[in-house]
Amino acid sequence: MRRRRRIKIIATLGPASSDRAVVASLFEAGADVFRINMSHASHDGMRERVAMIRSLEEQFGRPIGILIDLQGPKLRVGEFESGAVLLRKGDAFTLDCDPTPGTQTRVFLPHPEILSSLEAGHRILIDDGKVLLKVTSAGNGRAVTIVEVAGRVSNKKGVSLPDTTIPTSAMTDKDHKDLDAALEEDIDWIALSFVQRPEDVVEVRKVVQGRALIMAKIEKPQAIARLDEILAVSDALMVARGDLGVEMPLEQVPGLQKRITRLARRHGKPVVVATQMLESMIVSPVPTRAEVSDVATAVFEGADAVMLSAESASGQYPFEAVSTMNRIAEEVEAEEIYPSIITSQRATPERTGADAIAVATRDVAETLQLKVICAWTASGSTGLRIARERPRSSILALTPIVATARRLALVWGVHAVVTDDARDERDMADRACRHAFIEGFAQTGERVIIVAGVPFGTPGATNNMRIALIGPEGGSA
Ligand code: PGA
Ligand code: MN
Repeated sequence: MRRRRRIKIIATLGPASSDRAVVASLFEAGADVFRINMSHASHDGMRERVAMIRSLEEQFGRPIGILIDLQGPKLRVGEFESGAVLLRKGDAFTLDCDPTPGTQTRVFLPHPEILSSLEAGHRILIDDGKVLLKVTSAGNGRAVTIVEVAGRVSNKKGVSLPDTTIPTSAMTDKDHKDLDAALEEDIDWIALSFVQRPEDVVEVRKVVQGRALIMAKIEKPQAIARLDEILAVSDALMVARGDLGVEMPLEQVPGLQKRITRLARRHGKPVVVATQMLESMIVSPVPTRAEVSDVATAVFEGADAVMLSAESASGQYPFEAVSTMNRIAEEVEAEEIYPSIITSQRATPERTGADAIAVATRDVAETLQLKVICAWTASGSTGLRIARERPRSSILALTPIVATARRLALVWGVHAVVTDDARDERDMADRACRHAFIEGFAQTGERVIIVAGVPFGTPGATNNMRIALIGPEGGSA
């Protein structure tokens, strides 16, 4: 199965997408990576989902990426007796340390240190700022508030405190437990929430020890201030617009999105644009014009992936949301103006052999108008450096390592196939041609370009580029 677009789609799984048939339909509709949000998933729930995705992977014969999103020091309210309450303007509403389910007048805030930091006059924003409470009095493990902006508050909604200084550490106890549980499973990416400093990422990397790649979610002003340093120690970035738009003025988010995507692209590290992309599709089978335009913007920015949250996790139209995103991406990338926009944002290569080969490969592929670049890659780095060039040709990554193929599911333009390592240069050309043929990228009599590190099995040594002709049965002629 081949996608007809370069940008990838991440779909968050949740109650609306827990059935195997639904998840299968989301994959078929275009989801390349599934996200499991540990703010909501239990360990058992996470394990069941991972097992289900791995079995779908077998069924479809395509690598599927799994992204485990750690909650980080995100504050959330507890649960309600009725699942949700509607708060009206002027209502009194209390946050307290009583773990029993909430009512119309109170709810549990499971962070005692926060309750004691709140003071009269502080603002409390709930659910990405949709509801605004103002503290009227605080003390003795409770904060009494008045509702200033009305709205619905449901179980475990996020809480932001722009006026309160909160003592946060990088990883909570829950994050450590969730990370350990996730690393016992066959997962590919770990996303870290509310990163403030590079040390936050380094701390996670020490635990992960290469068992997954690490994505830093950029959603705090502190992270914006140290973006370069954070990127340097991360494998990918997420423009986490939900919290970013609460922690920073909302009107700064579009500019920040452009800065973050450009920076990540310059370094050849994947970047994801996330949150509220098709928000109205939580309750509607069609998106708004503004949402379509928002997805299109991320496509034109050359982001590696766009993400669905509640749209696929808890909305009424998960399938429609993924297929809508897929259609927008296909249509935008087919626009006549698309290649020139993508090309104008291309970054200059670094002075490495790998980048020199990547640039030359793109050049040759464009001169000869080749449909596909075949990249032998063990660690995935050759695939990443070629994707960084944002070539017009498709990128077929050939790897003996299944984890590499899964990780590359997140990367712009890369179609990864798991295959035995090449025995020698002849085998390298032969098998690249055969896979390009089988996967439908090129036909008999067409040329392809092949990139590899020779001798095989030496990671990071991209040094070989050649043109090959596809023979009668798909092998090299
Ligand atoms: P979240 O992260 O959905 O875990 O909050 C994404 C965001 O904040 O945009
Ligand atoms: Mn967030």
